[in-house]
Amino acid sequence: MDLPVTPLSEWGLPIGNTFLGAGPCSAETEDQLLATARGLKDCGLGFFRAGMWKPRTHPGAFEGVGVEGFEWLVRVKEEYGLPVGVEVATPEHVEACLEHNIDVVWIGARTTPNPFAVQSLADAMKGTDMRVFVKNPISPDLELWIGALERFHGAGLRKIGVIHRGFSTSKKVLYRFAPHWKIPIEFKRRLPGVPILCDPSHICGKSDLIFSIAQEALDLLYDGLMIEVHVDPANALSDSKQQLTPEQFHVLIERLTVKSELIQCEEYQARIKELRFEVDSLDKQLIEVLGKRMEIVREMGDLKRKNGISTLQPGRWNEIVASRAVSGSELGLAAEFVFELFESIHEEAIRQQEVGND
Ligand code: PEP
Ligand code: MN
Repeated sequence: MDLPVTPLSEWGLPIGNTFLGAGPCSAETEDQLLATARGLKDCGLGFFRAGMWKPRTHPGAFEGVGVEGFEWLVRVKEEYGLPVGVEVATPEHVEACLEHNIDVVWIGARTTPNPFAVQSLADAMKGTDMRVFVKNPISPDLELWIGALERFHGAGLRKIGVIHRGFSTSKKVLYRFAPHWKIPIEFKRRLPGVPILCDPSHICGKSDLIFSIAQEALDLLYDGLMIEVHVDPANALSDSKQQLTPEQFHVLIERLTVKSELIQCEEYQARIKELRFEVDSLDKQLIEVLGKRMEIVREMGDLKRKNGISTLQPGRWNEIVASRAVSGSELGLAAEFVFELFESIHEEAIRQQEVGND
């Protein structure tokens, strides 16, 4: 399945080497916003971001300046020629964005998981041509993420994309939010035409980790990045540890390599094609071997049944685990991988034996 959406190159926003959204976590004052925008005006931004309403974990924290900040964003747009973007969480927020000609909106990670909230936002945007990015839900749930996107698509919006901003986890990890790359990769497999950005700021939670996550996203051929930049991160009213200064942002984008350029190189294309051909043929052999193995296993099942012996023989399973782990390690395969592989093969073998040939 794929959703027919407008490619990012046709959204009418600047795309340099890669698409970039950047700006402060929150709009705080007119000076802060204009000074940050001044520092970013020559970076070829796709849009300048600033949160007006901030969903905070605890009440009483800085919750954003609200509609007051829109006049400041309008000045950013007029003075520096930058398209601007804001997070929306209610239909009233959408109205305010439409009134002030906001170029891009995004749905926050705490809003995406709520189908009622997402539907009310999609309904509020019906009939408009708004550009919308849907952040992943805070929990690692791919279906909720896709479902939210489908609601905007269902409301007729076509300039829709997603932002990978990491996932909550009970495990203590290096990052503020675990990247769980498998989820956005699976998203890209299921919906290859949908533009995907990475938000390394919210994944990392710390400014010095941002480069490696941003580079990893570009290596995985994401369409772009959204990064928090503040003129004075140490005194920011929200997410102060993860924001870069405009100067640090300049250095970051200079250091990043956009890998899609490499992919166009002919030599790379020719070699990767050969290697993929080999992998495809090995996978075919693997499937054939597995098919043959299951055929034999079914015959063993019939034999066991005829002799009144139960399908599952624990001694045999122990023998398989031990001997396969040894052969695997001789070839440099991780013991855990070999165990999981044979566990899955063995489970299927038991199932097939129970079904049998007869
Ligand atoms: C944000 O982008 O400022 C924000 C609140 O992000 P998230 O919804 O990813 O927490
Ligand atoms: Mn933030």
